[in-house]
Amino acid sequence: MQGLTAKEILSLWEAGQYQTPAERALTLLLAFCPRSPRAELERMSVGKRDELLLTFRELLFGSQFMATTTCPHCRLLLDLGFTAAEVRTEMPNGQVESFAVTVGEYQFNCRLPDSHDLLAVRHGRNTQEIAAALFARCVRHPNGDEVERQSLPEAVTDAVVAEIARRDPQGDIRFDLVCPDCSHQWEAIFDIVSFAWNEISAWAGRLLRQVHALARAYGWSETEILALSSFRREMYLELLGE
Ligand SMILES: [Zn+2]
Repeated sequence: MQGLTAKEILSLWEAGQYQTPAERALTLLLAFCPRSPRAELERMSVGKRDELLLTFRELLFGSQFMATTTCPHCRLLLDLGFTAAEVRTEMPNGQVESFAVTVGEYQFNCRLPDSHDLLAVRHGRNTQEIAAALFARCVRHPNGDEVERQSLPEAVTDAVVAEIARRDPQGDIRFDLVCPDCSHQWEAIFDIVSFAWNEISAWAGRLLRQVHALARAYGWSETEILALSSFRREMYLELLGE
């Protein structure tokens, strides 16, 4: 696990440009854990993956998070500030390969969704279809047979999904928010993958603008400019009045 140079973060951003969120998460994870085989990272539970991506984000940009959200009731724009510690949950020790879940008279053999599952279902048309495909992959009868999700009462499928989430809590982080204007209360999802990706994109955009300004003014190559520390880049830009 390591920090990255400006050039490496730029390459990472370029690599993820046209990827789906599940693919991007793996691209980020591979950059953070370059010595881990891809297959091993793909088999990591989504919560474990997000725990590592949170640490990666802290390494790149620090532990302070800033975000904006909109009140769904009155559309007020809210600024949110929080720390990595506030969105990090205690992960259960020693996640097991598979586990039994009993809901009333129903019994299942379940496992936690991983990146391999998310990649397999990424072309689902909507969240319901994706959730159903994930359920089919991760929930089986005790004898290994496929479960007909449609034949189960909704309360049973909800209980199974809740139990899977409980065993992999970092994969499902939510905030309770209250609007200061209209007092509306709602739950917002914190998704480390899209959060970190948006920050990397914004950072890369700023860096490319710096490269553009310095290359135009001094005739330096991109490689030369990226090799400068951010402090030096900013000093030169200041001298140029940028
Ligand atoms: Zn409001």
